[in-house]
Amino acid sequence: MDEIRMLFKQKGLRATPQREAIFRVLAGSKAHPNAEQVYQQVRQTFSSISFTTVYKTMQTLEEAGLLQRFNTGANVYRYDANVHPHPHFICLNCGRVDDLKEFPADLNDYLESAARSTPNRLRFVNLHFFGYCPQCAPGNQDQ
Ligand SMILES: [Zn+2]
Repeated sequence: MDEIRMLFKQKGLRATPQREAIFRVLAGSKAHPNAEQVYQQVRQTFSSISFTTVYKTMQTLEEAGLLQRFNTGANVYRYDANVHPHPHFICLNCGRVDDLKEFPADLNDYLESAARSTPNRLRFVNLHFFGYCPQCAPGNQDQ
């Protein structure tokens, strides 16, 4: 059984070809695509798939803990198959999203103790850094 099927099985999800294709697009991307971008890629293989199916599938994968979804502040949700807590860089101009390096051990310790110290059930952590990517940095405008 391949890795994706095993992951789906662990989460109690049936592995349909469409689900696998959608997850594969996200697992193979570092660009944190939005639902529309995932849809455009998946329909190259499944030409009759609808945007709604792609969107609902991504919701299912998110609920199963296989995807993380976050708002970049522009009311556009972006998706990430890396569900371990990690910070993101978001470009204020073009909306590009990059991973920043993993949290240090003491921050991870803090996150774990914070989770233990509250009766609330924590599901995910978002930490976003905003600024300009090299293409959009002031001074690069006229290139
Ligand atoms: Zn990420």
